[in-house]
Amino acid sequence: MASLSLKAITKRFGKVVALSGVDLHVEDGEFCVLLGPSGCGKSTLLNIIAGLIPQDEGTVLLDGEPVDRLAPRDRDVAMVFQSYALYPHMTVSRNLSFGLRMRGVPKPTIHKQVLETARLLGIEDLLDRKPRELSGGQRQRVAMGRAMVRKPKLFLLDEPLSNLDARLRSSVRLELKRMHRQIKGTIVYVTHDQVEAMTLGDRVVVMRDGKVRQIDRPETIYARPVDTFVATFIGSPEMNLYQGRLVRKDGRTHFQGPGFSLDLGGLQINLEEGKVELGIRPEDIRIGQGGTTVLEAKVEMLSNVGSEKYIHARLGQEGLTVCVPKEAAFEPGQVIPLTIDPGRVHIFHKGCRL
Ligand code: ATP
Repeated sequence: MASLSLKAITKRFGKVVALSGVDLHVEDGEFCVLLGPSGCGKSTLLNIIAGLIPQDEGTVLLDGEPVDRLAPRDRDVAMVFQSYALYPHMTVSRNLSFGLRMRGVPKPTIHKQVLETARLLGIEDLLDRKPRELSGGQRQRVAMGRAMVRKPKLFLLDEPLSNLDARLRSSVRLELKRMHRQIKGTIVYVTHDQVEAMTLGDRVVVMRDGKVRQIDRPETIYARPVDTFVATFIGSPEMNLYQGRLVRKDGRTHFQGPGFSLDLGGLQINLEEGKVELGIRPEDIRIGQGGTTVLEAKVEMLSNVGSEKYIHARLGQEGLTVCVPKEAAFEPGQVIPLTIDPGRVHIFHKGCRL
């Protein structure tokens, strides 16, 4: 397979700037996920890599070689779309072999590669069926198989799981991960689903408004989001975020939020005093006293997701979400003490992490 580099890719559709100065390097064999809200430019970027639409500025390189002048079929990349785009009148076997037949690959080679791919995906028994006789998950595997059978340099996957129901989605997700381990392919995968991105990606590229906001391993993006957009886009329930001021008193740092104040102790922050935003993830708040930083919040509502519960409370003038174990019993109206470890808070200045 191949490595992929994007250098300063810019694309405009009339007045709309779909992509602006996108730089990215994907290692050979890496699973890279493009994540961002609808309209941020993910699909446009994928189509530019495939050669389906031309960029206005910048270069696409495969294994260090520019491919901008190459037509899609000469780039040797395989694309899997959300719709799968299987040929309805062809059997699974014919669907799998289509690309190879078009390229004039000898029949015995086609036969061997189709069988090999079908075995790898566990779809040998389905080779004589038509797409309408398959489940959503099976169709998804055939679509992947059709991409894999050509042994391309690069796989480009555009929301390939979004047509599946939630249960199937998570099992096909695991299959995809296992498949990636086996074939060690270079994959660029587009999604707006953060769970998909975090579970699948070796690295995740978070995009917004045509720009890359952060490229990192999933755990780093979660632990050290570079800005308030990434901080609130990643994580469910969302990070609690408050506007306020940082003040220093007696060698200690305090955050003065809307109707509450938080003692951050000796937390080292690269800002003396002034306006900041403070973020704290719902699972990083402890209920009960015992730490240095204790606040009080009033429970408004509880939601139970089975494995845990979320408390929706009021902290000063703002809302607050806290994750608690499923057996925890709280009632609306109850006032609860909260302990926040200053080491767990995220401080942002003008939207960017300090
Ligand atoms: P989604 O998750 O909804 O598919 P996306 O992140 O893939 O969104 P793109 O489809 O790449 O976003 O679109 C990026 C921006 O470019 C959007 O504002 C979109 O409206 C615009 N755009 C995309 N294709 C065209 C086109 N052919 N003509 C005009 N504008 C376009």
